[in-house]
Amino acid sequence: MTVKLLSDNPIIGIDLGTTNSCAAVVDETGKVQLIPYKDGSFTIPSIYAVNDRGFELIGQEAKRQWQLNPRNTIYAAKRLIGRSPSDDIVDAMRESVAFNLTPGGENEVLIECADRQFRPVDVSAQILNKIRVVASDYLRLPVRRAVVTVPAYFNDRQRQAVKEAGMLIDLDVVRVINEPTAAALAYGLNKSFSGNILIYDLGGGTFDVSVVSVRAGNIFEVKSTGGDIFLGGIDFDNVLIRAVLRDFVEKHAIDLADDPVAMQRIRDMAERVKIDLSSRAEASFNLPFVTIDQSGLPLNIDMRLTRRDLDTLMAPLVNRTLDICERVLAESGLRAEELDEILLIGGQTRMPHVQDRLTAFFGKAPAKGINPDEAVAIGAALYAQTLQEDSPVKLQLLDVIPMAIGIERADGQMHVVFPRNSPTPNAKSLITTTSRDGQTSLCMRIYQGDQARARQNELLGEFLFSGIPPAKARSPKVQLTFQVNIEGVLSMSAQDLATGKRMETRVKIGAK
Ligand code: AMP
Repeated sequence: MTVKLLSDNPIIGIDLGTTNSCAAVVDETGKVQLIPYKDGSFTIPSIYAVNDRGFELIGQEAKRQWQLNPRNTIYAAKRLIGRSPSDDIVDAMRESVAFNLTPGGENEVLIECADRQFRPVDVSAQILNKIRVVASDYLRLPVRRAVVTVPAYFNDRQRQAVKEAGMLIDLDVVRVINEPTAAALAYGLNKSFSGNILIYDLGGGTFDVSVVSVRAGNIFEVKSTGGDIFLGGIDFDNVLIRAVLRDFVEKHAIDLADDPVAMQRIRDMAERVKIDLSSRAEASFNLPFVTIDQSGLPLNIDMRLTRRDLDTLMAPLVNRTLDICERVLAESGLRAEELDEILLIGGQTRMPHVQDRLTAFFGKAPAKGINPDEAVAIGAALYAQTLQEDSPVKLQLLDVIPMAIGIERADGQMHVVFPRNSPTPNAKSLITTTSRDGQTSLCMRIYQGDQARARQNELLGEFLFSGIPPAKARSPKVQLTFQVNIEGVLSMSAQDLATGKRMETRVKIGAK
C-alpha cells in the first residue's frame, strides 16, 4: 500500500525514544499513518551496534545481537544526550551498561563501541537516520524534514543536541516539541475537545508529567510540567535485577554483577519477566548455566515471582512519580477534580500497578484507547502537518520552560531570568554593567535548573559580549535580552545602551 501525501516534501513526526522510536505522517485525507517497521510493528528499537565483522547495525538487527555483543551495543543513548561527564546520570548509566563511557571535549560524554568513540548525538543521529530510511522506503520519497519529540524535562542543551543530530544527517528538525504535549495533541487535536488533561509519561528512561489545558480542540496551553530524568522502565528493571542478584548471593555467595555476559542475560530476562507480569499473575525467572561454582559446576537462576512481589519491589518508584504528579498539579493551579482526562504514555505505564495507583490517586481511571507507544509519534505527525506549507489546520500551542533559566551572580547564586513553568515563547531583558574600570567585555554563564547555587544546575553555555567602550566601573549599561522560542531553545542578544551596539549569539553548547 502506498500512502498518498499532499506534499512531496513532507514533514514527518518522530518520537525518538530512549528504548524505542516511532514515526508517523498525516496522509492526504488528514489521517495519521504510522510508519510500519518490521513484522507489522510500528516501533524501532533505539539501539546502535557494531558487530564482530565491523558492520553497523541499527534497530531490530542491533537488538537481536545485543546479548552476544553487549560491549558494542549502544542503547539508551538518549539518557546521555547533552550531558556533562560529571553528571550523576552518567555515573548511574556507567553502572548499568556494558559499554564504556569516557569524558570527551566540549564537556561531553563519549561512548566507546568497537574501538571507536561516539558522542551521544552521533548515536541519536544514526537512529534518526534509520527512521528516516524506513520512512522514505515506505513513503517512496525522500524524507528531509521532521518534527522530533523530546521529554518535557529536556533542557536547552539537550534540545539543541537533538537539532544537531538532525543536522548531522541532513534531516531538518523543523521543530522539537515536548512528548507529553504531543500526546495531548494526539488526544485532542481537531476533536473539538475542551478540558484539562494530565499526561503521565513513564517511558524507558525518563518520567514526565504535564498538565495541559485544551480549548476548542486547537488551543493547547501547557500549565505546568515536571519530571525525573532518573526514572524510567530501565530503573524498574534495575530494581528487579538487584533483587535477583541479592537472591543469587544468598544462595551461592557469588556476585554476578561483574560478569557482563551474565548481566546482559539477567537484564534481558528482568525486562521480560517484568513485562510478563503485566498480563500474568506469576512468572518464572529462569536462566540456566549463568555461571559456574568453584568446583566448575554450572549454576542456574531459578526464581518464581508473583505480580504482587513485583508491585512491592516497584512501589517506591511509583511513589516517586506520584509525588511529582502532586507537585505539578499544584503548580498548574488546578485541583484533581478539575482534570478531565489522565493520559498514559510510555511502555512502563502498561504495568497494572501503575494504573491502579493512578486511579486511586486521581479518583479516576486513565483514558482508554490511546496507545502509549504510538501517541507521541501521532501527536508529532499532527503537529508536523500544521507546519506544512498551506496547512488548513490551525493550532495554537503554548508550552512552558521545564526548569528555571538564569545567570550566575558574582556570589555564585543563580539569578533567575525565567522561572520554571514560564510560558514559551518568551523574552526578558535585564540591564547589567561592568565591575572594573576600563572593562570592555562581559562574560555571562547561563544555567538551567532549579537549584539556588548556579553551579549545581546544568551549564548551558557562556555568553561573551565584547566591544564596550572603556569607561569607569558600573557606568556602561548593557541590556541583555533572553529569548526562549516555542521549542524551548534559548538565544540571547545584548546591546550597549550608550552606543546602541548590538551583538546576537546563540548560547554555545557545552562551553566550559
Ligand atoms: P518506551 O520508552 O515508551 O518505549 O517504554 C519502554 C519501557 O516500557 C521499557 O522499560 C519496557 O520494559 C517497558 N514496558 C513495555 N511494555 C511493558 C509492559 N507490558 N509492562 C511493563 N513495562 C513495559
